[in-house]
Amino acid sequence: MTCVLAIDIGGTKLAAALVDETGSILRSATRPTPRADVMNALAALVTEVTTGGPPPVAAGIGCAGPIDLATGTVSPVNMPSWREFPLRDEVRRLTGLPTMLAGDAQCFALGEHWLGAGQGSDTLLGIVVSTGIGGGLVINGSPLLGPTGNAGHVGHMSVDPNGERCECGGLGCVERYSSGPNLVRWAVGHGWKGEPADARTLAEDAAAGDAVALAAFERGSRALAGMIASVTAATETTRVVVGGGVSMAGKVLFEPLARALDDVAGLAFVRAVRVVPSVLGVRASLAGAAKLALDHSPSS
Ligand SMILES: [Zn+2]
Repeated sequence: MTCVLAIDIGGTKLAAALVDETGSILRSATRPTPRADVMNALAALVTEVTTGGPPPVAAGIGCAGPIDLATGTVSPVNMPSWREFPLRDEVRRLTGLPTMLAGDAQCFALGEHWLGAGQGSDTLLGIVVSTGIGGGLVINGSPLLGPTGNAGHVGHMSVDPNGERCECGGLGCVERYSSGPNLVRWAVGHGWKGEPADARTLAEDAAAGDAVALAAFERGSRALAGMIASVTAATETTRVVVGGGVSMAGKVLFEPLARALDDVAGLAFVRAVRVVPSVLGVRASLAGAAKLALDHSPSS
């Protein structure tokens, strides 16, 4: 049995697991991401899952971005204590294992392709719709990472070059229309009075028939549809898996998204793309990190 160490690093949670080549989780543990000394917390977590378990042959890490694969460094937006932090080398030193690094949304896509809603698809786009919008592409089973590890940043594809300015500096990025905070921002600007004013309440109100909440999801879905149609036209994507907190809205997101895609997409192969919800949820990135390690383990 081949076993690898999978690590998922986010702004709120650190997770680690021992995973075998079938995707079974042999041991796992999580802990909150501390404000400082993150590496100490990660080292303790790794010790917890590896002690007494079968020895892993490689390690895979999915980390919140931005990352730089050329140097193996990470600078997660929500983790101010890590700026150009040499995560790949630190984990290699800690574990003595060959260590692979990718973005957390890239790992989400790879995990869903391996064990989740993307199984059997040729070209998969994974999208994580949450505070921001992340993404990853898996082509013929392999993640498309890009030279610096930033391929798949679909949240910053422009769906309206005459549109609103995004925090990234770009113009008309889909994230500016469809991320949780931006759905809420638009709804509040149009008179929605949900309390608390967050994406979950907005989804509940949309499900209950609130006109402004429904319109916010219509508008956000339309921007997502524009991005999905563009990515599909460029890569012949066959399946799109949507995860992240906003995807928990369910029907109020996926129904207008299907309608918008039907309206936006023209060519037959673009219209053929299937959009489905994530089945692995928060476990997808960890599964992807494991697959990354398995595919690059010395025995593979
Ligand atoms: Zn942007």
